[in-house]
Amino acid sequence: VIEIGQPEHSVVTTCAYCGVGCAFKAEMRGEEVVRMVPYKDGKANRGHSCVKGRFAWGYTNHKERILKPMIRERIEDPWREVSWDEAFSFAAARMRGIQKKYGRDAIGGITSSRCTNEETYLVQKLIRAGFGNNNVDTCARVCHSPTGYGLATTFGTSAGTQDFDSVEDTDVVVIIGANPASAHPVFASRLKKRLRQGAKLIVIDPRRTEMVESPHVKALHLPLMPGTNVAVMTALAHVIVTEGLVNEAFVRERCDWSEFEEWAAFVAQPKNSPEATAILTGVDPKALREAARTYATGGNGAIYYGLGVTEHSQGSTTVIAIANLAMATGNIGRPGVGVNPLRGQNNVQGSCDMGSFPHELPGYRHISGDAVRDQFEALWNVKLNPEPGLRIPNMFDAAVEGTFMGIYVQGEDILQSDPNTSHVVAALSAMECVIVHDLFLNETANYAHVFLPGSSFLEKDGTFTNAERRIQRVRKVMTPKNGMADWEVTIGLAKAMGFEMNYSHPSEIMDEIAALTPTFAGVSYAKLDELGSVQWPCNEKAPEGTPVMHIDGFVRGKGKFVVTEYVATDERTGPRYPLLLTTGRILSQYNVGAQTRRTENVVWHAEDRLEIHPHDAEQRGVRDGDWVRLKSRAGETTLRAEITDRVAPGVVYTTFHHPDTQANVITTDYSDWATNCPEYKVTAVQVSPSNGP
Ligand code: SF4
Repeated sequence: VIEIGQPEHSVVTTCAYCGVGCAFKAEMRGEEVVRMVPYKDGKANRGHSCVKGRFAWGYTNHKERILKPMIRERIEDPWREVSWDEAFSFAAARMRGIQKKYGRDAIGGITSSRCTNEETYLVQKLIRAGFGNNNVDTCARVCHSPTGYGLATTFGTSAGTQDFDSVEDTDVVVIIGANPASAHPVFASRLKKRLRQGAKLIVIDPRRTEMVESPHVKALHLPLMPGTNVAVMTALAHVIVTEGLVNEAFVRERCDWSEFEEWAAFVAQPKNSPEATAILTGVDPKALREAARTYATGGNGAIYYGLGVTEHSQGSTTVIAIANLAMATGNIGRPGVGVNPLRGQNNVQGSCDMGSFPHELPGYRHISGDAVRDQFEALWNVKLNPEPGLRIPNMFDAAVEGTFMGIYVQGEDILQSDPNTSHVVAALSAMECVIVHDLFLNETANYAHVFLPGSSFLEKDGTFTNAERRIQRVRKVMTPKNGMADWEVTIGLAKAMGFEMNYSHPSEIMDEIAALTPTFAGVSYAKLDELGSVQWPCNEKAPEGTPVMHIDGFVRGKGKFVVTEYVATDERTGPRYPLLLTTGRILSQYNVGAQTRRTENVVWHAEDRLEIHPHDAEQRGVRDGDWVRLKSRAGETTLRAEITDRVAPGVVYTTFHHPDTQANVITTDYSDWATNCPEYKVTAVQVSPSNGP
């Protein structure tokens, strides 16, 4: 740790990495951070933290950070540093020129789940009201969009049902497609504490994760083949229904009974039994039956899930299947139970809440709704387009076709994080104006015409919303090194485009959000300062927020059961591509590593490695630490092998933190049928020895 002397004052703020949302005291000396101290009154972390939040803030001062706006006529030209005004004028002229030439809908933008609620709200406002279309999407498209669809369909709202405290009342913890020990470490500690107290653990994951291997915890692990989530969920439901384990009183009172009957008849079919699906899923039927009985009869059952559920061609179906299980067993609507998506980025929940999807205004209200649109039109003083806009993959397709030619990307490296890199390159290359608003010249910036320097979480005021719907303050501890916080940059760009947005502080943006969004109606900076945080819905009915949802009834009224037929992904193994690749994270890195790779005070995980089973390695003559070539139908890369039985024969696994690896060169174009969330978790590959990159 770099110590800069004794602190002179401290400011409470919120970690900008994962969806746990740990609060920290930034201990300051002047405008320099001396250290980040986990805040004992932080409601999400209670004085705990992980290595990232505590130490990985040095990127704010990294020498590669870009502090001056830059423009260039063509992507082949060198960058030219310019004033903010010149950058805004250049960007605005290009974007307006594109609209004149190709039409109003030829531009759009992407909000960031790393930025504050207020900043996200402004970007979607600029696009809807300033650009005049709904071509706004969010990086949540590539992670938790199926959560939004699945939970809205079944429960009526796109959010996790519980607070983190709820785990203290849980008797059976089910973790599906998530590895909280790496990705949500502070919450994982609370989970482990509860498990040490005697709660049971079921892990459904192709890989034997750290949660399975935790000492003092006996996990029931169902190591399914990647891509078979829906078949496993349906087999669990089969056991619950056919063995009479349904909580009928709950279902009769809280759910639509006829939809339940249709679902129960479907899951009870012999083809959905654990035995009938065992060859497909690779899961021992006895273990699966034990898991179903434990979840249904073991007391309070809580499901926690991650991107191993959502990033599939049936991601939304799996979320629905999880909700079906919770409703059938009555595990919803009280402490200790529920369906809990573990959000990856700090503000995934918030960016979705703030209207970042092309079909939804803030608060998950469809853009086609006249009454809702009327409210926004009155306050924003514009006429809004009632037609949903383009999703990210549709923007790329339209760019290649020549109908979508300008994009404003705030805080996301789409080239590195979106699937099928070569298609993204083709799309970006075809555009006439790519505006990247970020801290660093990321991979996407190679195709940009305008670079607007971003600000870190230490340099701005605002709020983040964590995985438990908890809205927390982000407080500025230093002057933005680039001269402008991100919310001010968006306002500057909007003004240059002829759309004025007048706010002198992010608290005023939150006041507008509260005025337009019923679930945020009671939220203000004064309340957040007074209570420390609030969980939405926060309104007249729940002035101090809502830790547990759906207590007296589902938001949609009756809980909705939906039949979830398993449909195999089109991505198939075969003689040329015999292995299935799945991906995940490691504790000491974060997503594409833009920040963690630029924090030099800790020795961080240095490279992505390919985990491969000893049997598969031996067949290919690969030894531990050897370079291997990893090739799919979409592309290839080179990385080192790690031989381990954490993965089953036939399955390989890697992380995606390093640009050298470019894991998304490998991934395919397949995506979730409902939301287009990419199928990152299932790619057929071949592995062969290599001499290195
Ligand atoms: Fe930050 Fe998440 Fe670590 Fe907490 S657990 S310190 S929110 S990265």
